[in-house]
Amino acid sequence: MELQQELQRMGHGDHLCLVYETAEQQWDAIIPYLSEGLERNEACLYVIDDRDLEEVRQAFLARGVDVDGYVRSGQLTFATKREAYLRSGTFDPAAMIAFLDQTVQEALAAGRTGFRVTAEMTWALGQECGCERLIEYEARLSHFFPGSRASAICQYNRKRFGADIIRDVLRTHPVAILGNQVCPNLYYEKPGMVLGQESTEQRVEWMIQQLQRFRTAERKLERAVQARDEFLSVASHELNTPLTSLKLQVQSLTRTLARGDTTALTPEKVARTADRTDRQLRRLSRVVSDLLDVSRIHAHKLKLILEPVEMRELVADVVERTSAEFAWAGVRLDIAPSPKVVGLWDRSRLEQVLLNLLSNALKYGAGKPVRVEVKLDGERVRLSVVDQGIGLREEDRARIFERFERAISANEASGLGLGLYIAREIVQAHGGHISVESQPGAGSTFTVTLPLDA
Ligand code: ADP
Repeated sequence: MELQQELQRMGHGDHLCLVYETAEQQWDAIIPYLSEGLERNEACLYVIDDRDLEEVRQAFLARGVDVDGYVRSGQLTFATKREAYLRSGTFDPAAMIAFLDQTVQEALAAGRTGFRVTAEMTWALGQECGCERLIEYEARLSHFFPGSRASAICQYNRKRFGADIIRDVLRTHPVAILGNQVCPNLYYEKPGMVLGQESTEQRVEWMIQQLQRFRTAERKLERAVQARDEFLSVASHELNTPLTSLKLQVQSLTRTLARGDTTALTPEKVARTADRTDRQLRRLSRVVSDLLDVSRIHAHKLKLILEPVEMRELVADVVERTSAEFAWAGVRLDIAPSPKVVGLWDRSRLEQVLLNLLSNALKYGAGKPVRVEVKLDGERVRLSVVDQGIGLREEDRARIFERFERAISANEASGLGLGLYIAREIVQAHGGHISVESQPGAGSTFTVTLPLDA
């Protein structure tokens, strides 16, 4: 299943090799790859050699692909090595690439969205002349595919090829499918390295770069795992704090009732308890809805409900809703005079973005006044929240929009590090972007830029 999803992501420009040992491995990769191309209305070519046509046909049928229909419509073609690689009787890499180029152009001219090809490379084991230039051809292909509207999987049956060829195949394909894994290929060398006379110096340089690239990728993963662990502990804390407070309130109420002393329950006291309970419940539900949003974003299920929205009105609404919190903290919150701007947006999602920016401005604003501005900039609106608080260091400015990322420790201010990540996803779903200008100690200005027509 994982293999299928990864293969579905492959497309224009990709040059993959499949190194397989069993028919199952072969079909598990090739059939989803070609089916995806057929669904995308790409012209598809399958060069048969190791198997016979009927075997391939049956494999497609067994996996529910209407292979005959696609062949009849001309979208899928099966060819032999004589019809593809050995058209002139001998194999010539340059001529073959010219042929591929022409086939792509013809497919596009016929209204197809691209071209994908797969070949059983055992043809190259034949005695025909030119077959010894196989690796040169593979290296040239890695030059041809990037930037083209075509892609390929070259199939290498490991039982039929010697280790020397498989080694060179691994040097010439940027991505290798091995069993049920799609592997970015650490051993891939640029065409110039395979074809040219590289110096030892160049090889050493390449080896060092590969090692560094590998380590950087590994570090990124380590950091992600660490951030997730930290997040789990912060999230439990964020859920636990309001829960503890709620538990205490209920216990105190139960004790009062048990004593039978209902005179202590004055309307003022009950109102205060209700107010505190409400605040804790809101805090809990904010944490839970942030968590839900993150999983929605992850599953690509963040849907916008677009309607005409007047930005000034939306700002006034949100400011009104947060005014009690600002007043309670003794922080001034102003709206700068702004024009009336109507756009096609998701009202409640944009309210969520502004609420988050305002609550950050309150949290990190050092008690100084906060201002909201709306400006029209051609076909776009710019919504800014300006604070004069602790600000951000340059190295933190990009990072804080990522999941779980915070520029401050859990001891200094509570939070999950999700608000800005969710805000960025919402803004981007509207075709807009969010950015921050800030200096440590000199406050921050977060600006959301949105097209009027999302
Ligand atoms: P949270 O506030 O829950 O940690 P956010 O995703 O909203 O999560 O923000 C991520 C981090 O960005 C915060 O932890 C804080 O370090 C930093 N940050 C956000 N807004 C501001 C601001 N107005 N001023 C300074 N730092 C900020």
